[in-house]
Amino acid sequence: MHYFEATLLSIVLMLAILVDVLRFPLIKKDRGSRFFAELTIAYSIYLVITIFICLGREGIVLYPIPINRILWTLHYLSFPLLLGMWMHFNALNVIDNEKLVNLLSLIHAIPLAVLTMIVILDIPRQQFYPFNIAYEHMLPSAGTTYMIILSFFFCLAMLLPTLGHRKELPGSFLFISMLLPVAFTTSFIAFYVTHTHVMFTMVNSFMMVLYYLIGQRDSVRTDPLTGLPSYALLKRKMIRIFRFRSPYAVVLLDIENFRYFNSRYGQFIGDQMLINLADYLRTLANANEVFRISNDQFCLCFPATKEETALSITNQIEDRLNQPWILNERSVHIQVNMAIISIPQQAETLEEFKQAVNQLLLEIKTVRSKSLIVYTRESMIDHERKLNIISALRESIKFPDQVVVHYQPIYDAKTEQLVSAEALMRIKDRHLGFLQPDAFISLAEQTGLIVQLTQIVLAKVCRFIKQFPEDDTPFSHLAMNLSGEDFESKTLGKILLNIIEKEGVNPKQIGFEITESVVLQSYDTVSDVMIELSLKKITFALDDFGTGYSNLRALIDLPYDYVKFDKSVIHAAENNPSMLSLLTEMLHKMGKCVIAEGVETKEQLALIRSVGIERVQGYYFSKPLEEEIFHNLVVKARKD
Ligand code: C2E
Ligand code: CA
Ligand code: CA
Repeated sequence: MHYFEATLLSIVLMLAILVDVLRFPLIKKDRGSRFFAELTIAYSIYLVITIFICLGREGIVLYPIPINRILWTLHYLSFPLLLGMWMHFNALNVIDNEKLVNLLSLIHAIPLAVLTMIVILDIPRQQFYPFNIAYEHMLPSAGTTYMIILSFFFCLAMLLPTLGHRKELPGSFLFISMLLPVAFTTSFIAFYVTHTHVMFTMVNSFMMVLYYLIGQRDSVRTDPLTGLPSYALLKRKMIRIFRFRSPYAVVLLDIENFRYFNSRYGQFIGDQMLINLADYLRTLANANEVFRISNDQFCLCFPATKEETALSITNQIEDRLNQPWILNERSVHIQVNMAIISIPQQAETLEEFKQAVNQLLLEIKTVRSKSLIVYTRESMIDHERKLNIISALRESIKFPDQVVVHYQPIYDAKTEQLVSAEALMRIKDRHLGFLQPDAFISLAEQTGLIVQLTQIVLAKVCRFIKQFPEDDTPFSHLAMNLSGEDFESKTLGKILLNIIEKEGVNPKQIGFEITESVVLQSYDTVSDVMIELSLKKITFALDDFGTGYSNLRALIDLPYDYVKFDKSVIHAAENNPSMLSLLTEMLHKMGKCVIAEGVETKEQLALIRSVGIERVQGYYFSKPLEEEIFHNLVVKARKD
């Protein structure tokens, strides 16, 4: 094959890559991908120069002597320059340490710079490297020898790091990284023997195409939205880290309530938020060390010898998150929960690491905002306990007898008469004993088991109510709690009504307590269900009022009958009663009946009465009671 055909074929291949990149832009924004683009451009320039030279050689165009020499000089220099770029590109893919790569490339750039100087100075004199028409039949000159030696040196510089890192390189990269120096060396031998660079051009083109294909295949494992590598690539990185026992710190990051963010601001802003966060995280760690491991979870890894490095990163992230993000001219906030795993202190093997990640991803969803979990081996024991609790929950769904409902009476603040009660769930497990909500509710929510548990509790509450004639109960209704996960089902309203109907209870004897955070999580579904059920005279209470955002929209728009002040509000009001009084007044003006939770002392009760709160619930009157005891209480209240 001649120069011309080889060059034309290469141009076609480069155009094919270009067209493909235009159709499917490279999503990975890491240095490797950027450098590949630069390499492609450099190679395309080389091809253009080659075309000019071909035109001159074939006598199609006649260049003045200085132009001809300059063209040949550029052509000549592009061999080692391209090889040097290949070497740098290869090192970026093979060596993890960016500083080391830059240092290596700098060392290699020195002989290249020397060569460039000599050749440029040699243009008028033509001693070092005679450029002329007889190029193909030239005698070995000092210039040719220098260039060939330098090229071999570059090939060697490619081979050595590849061999050194062969164990950690994924198969496809190992293959191409080995092929690269071998193919180029072959092309130089061919050049030495035949004096034509056809082989060099072909090797270059095919390597470009091969690298491009591998890069494209890898981008499947890259998140298209943020351009970050995905969980699959994190796993690959971890295999390397554990094989080399390098000290690493891993930070897991979970956006709190991202579903709510999305539904509040819309998908577009949600996506922008993720992109902005990803870009920010990239600035903290090398792009290759930030991963998007699920919809709203990210992971940062970085070499670390001290735990402080991880802490300083999490502090930086927290500082950034205290500032708003400007998206589409709107100022928005997000909160994240983070967890740190130190390798090898807290995870010595890949297995341990995977367990730690699984545990933390579960845990991170349950912690309240802005807390940092530092993973320790001891917390593994805690994790086992959680797994045991989850299996206890599964078991109790199969055997609903293990679901126990306690009732905490609610009293009229003035008359101190029983007016209602809140049903509170407990789990009675053969192995774990009696479980309180603190231990299992959030796990039940994360696993989705809460949905069935809610139905079991509702059925039990209905059966309790059925023990008394409808028009002869001291309580207006009994209330139970609903979780955010319950609202995942669009048919929640129907499901609940079916149970109430099947148990033969008048719906007005049932009430549901829903916290504000649940409302904010899925406003539309909550609103639909509330409207559907309140048509049947089921009542609703806004639970834990004063702990969340205290968003008035929910209070104004949704058919809440009751508002329950959280116990923290009552306790805080002891020092600042005017706030409680104002809030109560506002709620009364909105037509809500107010319940004070967590009333523990005589003083608190007095305070509640003084601000006009109608109902109280708390240890001062009664703890949550076993069903039988509450039953007796109801019977006694009926007689009074
Ligand atoms: P909650 O809905 O705010 O329920 C009130 C909690 O405050 C109960 O804790 C109750 O025992 C406690 N409490 C009542 N009076 C006082 C007091 O005077 N002082 C103090 N310090 N605490 C008091 P419990 O039973 O441990 O329930 C905790 C949470 O678990 C509940 O908070 C509720 O969010 C959740 N939960 C309980 N049962 C269920 C259920 O059946 N379904 C769902 N989804 N959640 C439930
Ligand atoms: Ca409640
Ligand atoms: Ca509450």
